[in-house]
Amino acid sequence: MILLNNNFEILDYNEYNNEFPITIFNLEENYSEYNPALFIDFKNDINYSISCIKKLICLEKKNINFSSDYNNFHFKYVIKNYNDDIIKSLQAINIKDTKEKYTFIYDYIFSCLDSIWKEKNPCNFCNNLCIATRNKKYIQQDDGCCYSFEYTDKLFSKSFITNKKKCKYLGINKQCTTQNLSCKFFTCPYLKKYENFDLKMSDYPIIESFFSKKQKLILKYNFFHSKDEIISKLLEKDSTPFLFYYYKSKYRIK
Ligand code: SF4
Ligand code: SF4
Repeated sequence: MILLNNNFEILDYNEYNNEFPITIFNLEENYSEYNPALFIDFKNDINYSISCIKKLICLEKKNINFSSDYNNFHFKYVIKNYNDDIIKSLQAINIKDTKEKYTFIYDYIFSCLDSIWKEKNPCNFCNNLCIATRNKKYIQQDDGCCYSFEYTDKLFSKSFITNKKKCKYLGINKQCTTQNLSCKFFTCPYLKKYENFDLKMSDYPIIESFFSKKQKLILKYNFFHSKDEIISKLLEKDSTPFLFYYYKSKYRIK
């Protein structure tokens, strides 16, 4: 049994013995307002899981309820062929406040990526020089790529970046003092080419399910900013057409 929130539980289908009624999930179905707990087979399929989570988000917005009581527990979902990402998605659906929901998802993804970086340690710092610098590829500087910069708008400039300096969030102990998801998703050309190390948002159905195309740009391209700034940007309402939003870099935090 898995805790969904303060009121409801999720049951693994392997523990279900027909003790209470369930509603079989169907992507095309229109459900009535009150229904028994929802049974969903996520089929270990990322694309199908994203469709299921998107449908569940719509059902929650329409206040369609699913619940079955058994042994003093209130079950909302009975699930099969799932992973941690799906559990976190179900928990996120049931958080009403949008800022709290985004923070929950952000923290979850950050902790997944942080574990990967810590376990694989691809940058392999030695005397404050990362592997790309030590091998004289991609960059030549201490502290790896923790340098903030701006894009120049001068037409005939030799470089397209300007105002380069150490990122203000780099602590004295060389640890990052904020939790920046864009930085966590960034892998330099050296890591991609020589260490075969890359991280993709599309591997996380929870991002694909909860965030729009504009919000994914916000998550991907806001290096050198704090977690709070990124969450606030995610909450911004912007009706600009996507292409204009993209070309005008409106996803960047000013
Ligand atoms: S991502 Fe690449 S450039 Fe940045 S610290 Fe790691 S090895 Fe160095
Ligand atoms: S915000 Fe990014 S660039 Fe700045 S210290 Fe943290 S990881 Fe490095």
